[in-house]
Amino acid sequence: MHIEIDKDVCIGAGQCALTAPGVFTQDDDGYSTLIPGHEDGARDPMVREAARACPVSAIKVTEPAG
Ligand code: SF4
Repeated sequence: MHIEIDKDVCIGAGQCALTAPGVFTQDDDGYSTLIPGHEDGARDPMVREAARACPVSAIKVTEPAG
């Protein structure tokens, strides 16, 4: 699982960090960022929930083929 956050789109609503606190956190400016070492989503099922919860769809979750 690969996670991307479009920081140009993120409005810092914090829904992702609330939904999947093991993967997302907020940086000093309040924008979403991935917790270091968890860029692969750590197989956390809440990552997809977090992507859905984002009000501006800034989170893209992709699954490598195969
Ligand atoms: S939920 Fe979306 S807008 Fe809010 S902090 Fe996370 S990525 Fe940014």
